[in-house]
Amino acid sequence: MSDPRPSLETRLVHGPEPEHTGAVSTPIVHSATFSFDSLDALLAAKAAGAAGAAYQRSGHPTVHAVERRLADLEGSEDALLFPSGMAAISTAFFAHLRSGDHVVCVDPCYGGTQHFLTWGRERFGWDVTFVDARQPDTWASAFRASTRVLHLESPINPTLTVFDIAAAAALGHQHGCLVSIDNTIASPLGQRPLELGCDLSLYSATKSISGHSDVLAGAAMGSRAQIARLYDLRTMLGPMPDPQTAWLIERSLKTMTLRVRAANANALELAERLRRHARVASVFYPGLRDHPQHALATRQMRLGYGPLLGFEVLGGADAARRVVEALRVIKHGPSLGAVESLSSLAAHTSHAMIGPEGRARAGIPEGLVRLSAGIETIDDLWTDLEQALGALAG
Ligand SMILES: *Cc1c(COP(=O)(O)O)cnc(C)c1O
Repeated sequence: MSDPRPSLETRLVHGPEPEHTGAVSTPIVHSATFSFDSLDALLAAKAAGAAGAAYQRSGHPTVHAVERRLADLEGSEDALLFPSGMAAISTAFFAHLRSGDHVVCVDPCYGGTQHFLTWGRERFGWDVTFVDARQPDTWASAFRASTRVLHLESPINPTLTVFDIAAAAALGHQHGCLVSIDNTIASPLGQRPLELGCDLSLYSATKSISGHSDVLAGAAMGSRAQIARLYDLRTMLGPMPDPQTAWLIERSLKTMTLRVRAANANALELAERLRRHARVASVFYPGLRDHPQHALATRQMRLGYGPLLGFEVLGGADAARRVVEALRVIKHGPSLGAVESLSSLAAHTSHAMIGPEGRARAGIPEGLVRLSAGIETIDDLWTDLEQALGALAG
């Protein structure tokens, strides 16, 4: 009797039928293409959008499983995953802007966002007005009849300026705008922008969402209608993450509460200790009672005040550089919201392009060290900072 199965060679290509395994962790489906028993089934998968799986660029089961978790985390109707934060942010702007449209954007904001909006001015003919994050009462005059988007970020790197998100969202809506926010620094656990009135919450999932310095990813959360607009563009332009990335995010989400709580507690403790240190001129952290928006941050943020703080070393840029280079436990590198504590020099990296005058205008001291607290033992972090600051004496 002949074997009813396909040939060994054909079976080598297709493998056996997949079985339901009961796996607690979402299986990583390493397939970019999906097959169907009928045309109707294929068309139904395509019509299901991000929830369907026909071809990876338009929808993938492992990616979508994580998108559902992210929507649940944010409390949004829907969510979309991207291969980087900038992919999420640029897709959101491309989905809403035409030539002739105008954007109001807080200043400072993430350097990549600022660069993208400025670049698009010449390239695509939209316009952008940057408004001082420290003075929300001046923002109203920036709106025009052509303003389509108000883009927010709070707290803001590296001075940790905080403003009233609900009031800002109301102002944007008064002017008929979409209100988007980059909520990366606080994370979806630390701040609930959609509940405060924003339409679209954008993330570099590279930061607290993934949290292990091993994934580059982005996410957008909002209403079903909003996310559908971004979905169309993601499908057209192609910034679709791979299933391995999605799975690493799922894995990270399971410990996110523990990581965010630990990092935020470390950040607050370090901010308080640094403020009392003789070689530190000032500390920027919304959790400190003398931060200009401390009361607002306490109302607006959850689980503490985020992992990021800034401190100004006495002696300016050179002294700050020596401190960062003397740190051992705290690694010198970009990024934030990771399990590892990270330090960087704003004047040399994130805010190098705007020059000394730009930094002075933005209130960024030349001797500013940016510190993203990780989840290490507080005493090890503090001992490291004390030895690095102590080395300045020589
Ligand atoms: C890192 C970061 C981004 C960019 O995200 P990528 O994942 O690097 O593309 C955007 N906004 C903020 C606040 C960030 O920290």
